[in-house]
Amino acid sequence: MKIDQIDIYEVRMRLKVRFQASTHAADELRHILIRVRSGDFTGWGECSAPNDPYYLGETADSSWHMLESFLAPAVLGKDFADVAAFAAAYDHVKGNTFARAGIETAAWDLFGRARGVSVASMLGGTRKEILSGVSLGMEPIDALCDRIAQHVAEGYRRVKLKISPGKDASLFDKLRPRFPDVAFMADANSTYTLADTEALRRLDAYGLMMIEQPLAWDDLIDHAKLQKAIKTPVCLDESVKSEVQCRNALELESFRVLNVKAGRIGGLLEAKRVHDLCAAAGIPVWCGGMHDYGVGRAANVALASLPGFSLPGDVSGSDKYFEEDLVDPPILAKNGAIEVPERPGLGFDVVEERVAKRTSRTRRFG
Ligand code: MG
Repeated sequence: MKIDQIDIYEVRMRLKVRFQASTHAADELRHILIRVRSGDFTGWGECSAPNDPYYLGETADSSWHMLESFLAPAVLGKDFADVAAFAAAYDHVKGNTFARAGIETAAWDLFGRARGVSVASMLGGTRKEILSGVSLGMEPIDALCDRIAQHVAEGYRRVKLKISPGKDASLFDKLRPRFPDVAFMADANSTYTLADTEALRRLDAYGLMMIEQPLAWDDLIDHAKLQKAIKTPVCLDESVKSEVQCRNALELESFRVLNVKAGRIGGLLEAKRVHDLCAAAGIPVWCGGMHDYGVGRAANVALASLPGFSLPGDVSGSDKYFEEDLVDPPILAKNGAIEVPERPGLGFDVVEERVAKRTSRTRRFG
């Protein structure tokens, strides 16, 4: 398919609930939507890099620069047989995984729509529905308990809570007696070091499903040492940004569970390769999120339809985050599960008026 035109949009969305992590907070998001056209067909992608450089370093502004200066020009006007050929056109661009994932998602949607098949089936997905958990920010304990009770009642399958030094075992001391059967996991977002091993070992007492990314965002070796010292499975997020890093982490035994995010890993193609490596090693994976709008969320649903995604992920209904999402039909969880669409492409249509209403800058190529 020849890429005739590419539009990029910076789109602002207000969060229903302010998100508080250990390092930063957010009320409003700025994600980039990418629309590619080939003849009569259109595909949409989303770059969900955060506003600030506190997750991996990449931001909405740095992604905009990558898309505008390198990625869109690399594919515009060229003819591609499939998504792999499309992605190979900018294979020499290093890092910048969110920007690469955004434009690649648009290609998946485009090829899927042109061929009349869903992205989930193009990827090799087998699941008819994906299991949803929720991820909650830091809040005062009473508000947190109310929110946990509400989401458990809605049917969500597990609850992820942010922890940081001093706000770990004390948190579960309060929560475990109130919610004895809830599947809890903790996300530390790199706020610990090996010197905190004792504090992390204390969490073994609460039967957590896993502790996500306790140590440095770019570490593999210390995580391997920590995993040997504690019973709770270590889950990596920030530390695995590519197939190569996944292979290295497997060899070092740095983790027993992996959070797979297409944005962090550079697109669905590479995310599938990471999934395949983990599946071969018997490591369960789950799909993380970046407060994605409907387009990015739809890509997550397609990814999580792969057989190795055996644990509930962070992909929940978009009504949890936004008053009105950008896609139709809306992506909703029912009894803790989201149906994988069989419609062509990502399976959800972008409502262009809703995008236009929230667009703060745009650029057209071709
Ligand atoms: Mg995480």
